[in-house]
Amino acid sequence: MATGDEKSVCPVCFNLDFDHIPQKEPPCVLDSHYFNIPFLKVKASSKSESCLPCSIICAGLECMQEQWEDSEDDQFLLEDTLLLINLRRGHSLRITCSNPGDEKILEFYTLSEKDNASIFAIGISRAVATELDLDRCLELAREWMKKCDTEHNLCGRPISSRLPTRVIDVGPDATSDTVYLRETTESNRDLYMSLSHCWGKEQIITTTTSTLLARKASINLSELSELSENFRDAVMIARYFGIRYLWIDSLCLYLDRH
Ligand SMILES: [Zn+2]
Ligand SMILES: [Zn+2]
Repeated sequence: MATGDEKSVCPVCFNLDFDHIPQKEPPCVLDSHYFNIPFLKVKASSKSESCLPCSIICAGLECMQEQWEDSEDDQFLLEDTLLLINLRRGHSLRITCSNPGDEKILEFYTLSEKDNASIFAIGISRAVATELDLDRCLELAREWMKKCDTEHNLCGRPISSRLPTRVIDVGPDATSDTVYLRETTESNRDLYMSLSHCWGKEQIITTTTSTLLARKASINLSELSELSENFRDAVMIARYFGIRYLWIDSLCLYLDRH
C-alpha cells in the first residue's frame, strides 16, 4: 500500500515506469527494457487493484481480441498467454503476446504530450496522413528532412558522389513534362535519389539496347506517358527537393544485358 505521498508500485506492471521495472545485468544498451507477465495477472490487477497501466494494457488487448479470433474455437487471448512487455524510451509501448506457435504484437501510443503526462512508457507517436496525397506527403517529408538536418548529429549530410552509369535527369525546370535518360561519366558527381519500388505484375517502362536512344531523347511525364504513377511521383519528389538526378532500376539498367 502507498504510504504518505509515495505512489505504490504495481507488482505486475511496475507502473510501466522505467525506474521501477526489473533491471537486467548487463544493462540494456538501447534503453529498451523487457519483462514477461501472463495475461491472467494483468487482467486480475486491472480488476482488483484498479492499476491504470494494467487496465490500459488489458483494454487494448481485449479490443484486439475480436480481430485476432475468428471464431469461438480459435481463441488467442488466453489466461496463460504470455505478454512480453517492451518499454522503449521515446517510442510506443510494444507488447508481444505469445501462445505456443503463435504470436501477435500490439503497440500502444499517445498522440500528444498532454495525453502522455502519466505513463511515459506509452510514447508519443506521429499522426499519419490517411490519404496518400503527394503534396501532403512532401510537406511531411520536408519536416522530417529539416528535423534530420537540425537535430540529428549522427546522421550524415548528403554529399555529391559519382552518379550511377545511367540516371534520369529531371531537368532544371520543375514544370517541364519531359525527363531524360542520361549516361554519365566518371567526372559526373552530384546528388541523386533512388526509387525503391515493387515491380508488381503490371508491365513497367524499361530500357533495353533498342530503346536507349529514345529514352535519352525524352521520356514523357504526361498522363498518357509510359511512366507509371509512382515513377512520375518520384520525379516530382526529386524536383521538390531540388535534386536533379533520379535512379530507377528498370530504366537505368539494361534489361537485356547481363
Ligand atoms: Zn499494473
Ligand atoms: Zn536523421
